[in-house]
Amino acid sequence: MVETNLILLGPPGAGKGTQAERLQADFALAHISTGDMLRAQVAQGTELGREAQKYMNAGELVPDEVILGMIGQRIGEQDAREGFLLDGFPRNTSQADALAATLADSGRRLTGVLLIDVPDEVLVRRLAGRRVCVKSGHVYHVEFDPPKREDVCDQDGSRLIQRDDDREETIRRRLEVYARQTAPLIDYYEGAGLLRRFDGQRNPNEVHDHIRATVATLRLEDEL
Ligand code: AMP
Repeated sequence: MVETNLILLGPPGAGKGTQAERLQADFALAHISTGDMLRAQVAQGTELGREAQKYMNAGELVPDEVILGMIGQRIGEQDAREGFLLDGFPRNTSQADALAATLADSGRRLTGVLLIDVPDEVLVRRLAGRRVCVKSGHVYHVEFDPPKREDVCDQDGSRLIQRDDDREETIRRRLEVYARQTAPLIDYYEGAGLLRRFDGQRNPNEVHDHIRATVATLRLEDEL
């Protein structure tokens, strides 16, 4: 069977993490989130984590060489050789070029790029109310998707926290960075015929249904 290699594209707060959790289960893909990988480095107090944290707390992008080293290794690992779902990467055209080169080197290619679209004012509300569990990053929202017990993860009982970069000032900066550096990837992948768009204002189940149907079609087309 042909491997399914996907990118989840969209502004911070569009629901990429939520959809990634579900799609990973649907299609047995390796979910690769550069944000989660960086947060794990920060939590472990590594040199890379300390370097990255300065940028993350300011809402800026971590330098490409840090990210590219991390991702190059990860997509070559065994589970990712059978298909991957990139979440939060690439974030600019030079990362996208580097990804294309890495994949081409090993005779691999992208199956599709899934864009989840949401207007800015909705994103600010979503991000400011977002809470994540300290253990595995399960995502909740104080207003739209509260846990059964306040500040406790339904799935593993761990504590829920607000990410440092989910504070209003940093959110605005992250949205600016997205518009300037990441949004050009929409044209980039549209030009390559890989882009599929989804309305991220619909509820998560509907978004998931749409994406799942699209990915199933992309996989069928790939096998023909
Ligand atoms: P995320 O969880 O994807 O919103 O990422 C949180 C933060 O990690 C971002 O605001 C960036 O500072 C950093 N980050 C994550 N992925 C990347 C990437 N591909 N390139 C540069 N910085 C990244």
